[in-house]
Amino acid sequence: MAMEKENHELRAIFVPFLSTSHIIPLVDMARLFAMHDVDVTILTTSHNATIFQKSIDLDSARGRPIRTHCLKFPASMVGLPAGVEAFNVDTRKDMLPKIFMGLAILQPEMESLFQQLNADFIVTDMFYPWSVDAAAKLGIPRIMFHGASYLARSALHSVQHYKPYLKVDSDSEKFVLPGLPHELEMTRLQLPDWLREPNGYTHLMEMIRDSERRSYGSVFDSFYELEGEYLDHYKKAMGTKSWSLGPVSMWANQDAADKAGRGQAKLEQKGKEEEDSGCLKWLHSKPENSVLYVSFGSMSKFPSLQLVEIAQALEDSGHDFMWVVKKKDGEDGSFLEEFEKRVKASNKGYLIWGWAPQLLILENPAIGGIVTHCGWNTVMESVNAGLAMATWPMFAEQFFNEKLLVDALKIGVAVGVKEWRKWQQFGEEVVKKDQIAKAIALLMGNGEESVEMRRRARELSDAAKRAIKFGGSSHTNLLQLIQELESLKLDRINGK
Ligand code: UDP
Repeated sequence: MAMEKENHELRAIFVPFLSTSHIIPLVDMARLFAMHDVDVTILTTSHNATIFQKSIDLDSARGRPIRTHCLKFPASMVGLPAGVEAFNVDTRKDMLPKIFMGLAILQPEMESLFQQLNADFIVTDMFYPWSVDAAAKLGIPRIMFHGASYLARSALHSVQHYKPYLKVDSDSEKFVLPGLPHELEMTRLQLPDWLREPNGYTHLMEMIRDSERRSYGSVFDSFYELEGEYLDHYKKAMGTKSWSLGPVSMWANQDAADKAGRGQAKLEQKGKEEEDSGCLKWLHSKPENSVLYVSFGSMSKFPSLQLVEIAQALEDSGHDFMWVVKKKDGEDGSFLEEFEKRVKASNKGYLIWGWAPQLLILENPAIGGIVTHCGWNTVMESVNAGLAMATWPMFAEQFFNEKLLVDALKIGVAVGVKEWRKWQQFGEEVVKKDQIAKAIALLMGNGEESVEMRRRARELSDAAKRAIKFGGSSHTNLLQLIQELESLKLDRINGK
């Protein structure tokens, strides 16, 4: 147990990006460091802190050295209403550059806090490329957090390096992503727009890559048994160090109280407990593996046209389902209200409006599969729960994650989405109910292919549980990383 020694001396600052799905895993990671006696301060703005403060309070009460340091977001200076300080499902497009401006104003304050709080190292989100220089000025390591999979980052690297999309004649012709461990095929339409045609985001991504190369290393919410080939590939391609430390959701949230409060703003929790226990009660009344969970993450709202197709596919499937719905403002939702009444009366379906207690739902034995947009957090949480997935990627790096699930791990069945789209934009494509129904039938079915897929998913869940135990891959990585950071600190103190 030599590696488990006390190290109260090591001080860390964690800086999550201002969006729920980047905050959730990085806060869980920060909590893991505190669990292993690293003194942790999380820097964020007051409104974003409400998303996770309950978890920090629980950890503090457990005697762990962790706290939040809140910054005041300069909303009025950048022309935003008070309280708008995050990129989320309701953030209007015109607000996005203003939030970035607010973050830029906060940068000097964050830099001086790194010094004032005597940080021995910083772990910052990929969207803070400047922090590598801030750390260099203080002579301390910066570790970059990726909210993505190793496969997605490796695929991105492959596309940027080899530009395979230039070698096909049409947007829908398939090409192979060169140089990767598996033969993964995609089309030009499935690539993010900034990869096809350079724009401002392309420039930002280049800055991020440059800052990663100059960082001490990177950390991912992943584990070796899930995508070790891609971890090795990525380290080689980037020429950097990297540690897989996941699944962080299971490791950091072992009690029901942790799971229930995760990712929910305190303000929104009034009445939520009752609502949450309602959905869990409903699941408890259902047989094992019988319910399909349908969720598209924290960032998306479909227009009615698409909601109708999903609703019909679910009703026609014959399976019980739990669907997390977000209705677009200003769209007629009467058909959904009718739909909800009908499925409630038949006891076939349960609709959750808004935020679902996802960790508690996924681990419930009644859940038999999930339809997911392939957001990396949801993928990790589903793997952890041993669930096979019907994959419905939409934006960011989700089409790459689909490749990992369907082609590399064979625990996913593709719904068959053809077109990448920008976050908050729906695009032209409407996925039809027949297409959705086919994927659900395979996911929940009893044929050999379906049974095998679910068996593989359960095996990965066992591997995930081993990864975070003493001697497991992620556990060992965390201890080794902490030890390395301690010796870097000693070198610095001794002037080496
Ligand atoms: N989440 C949740 N309840 C919801 C929606 C999302 O708990 O109703 C959590 C989910 O468990 C995951 C995160 O929010 O941890 C969503 O992240 P993901 O990467 O899956 O998707 P994104 O929100 O970035 O599209």
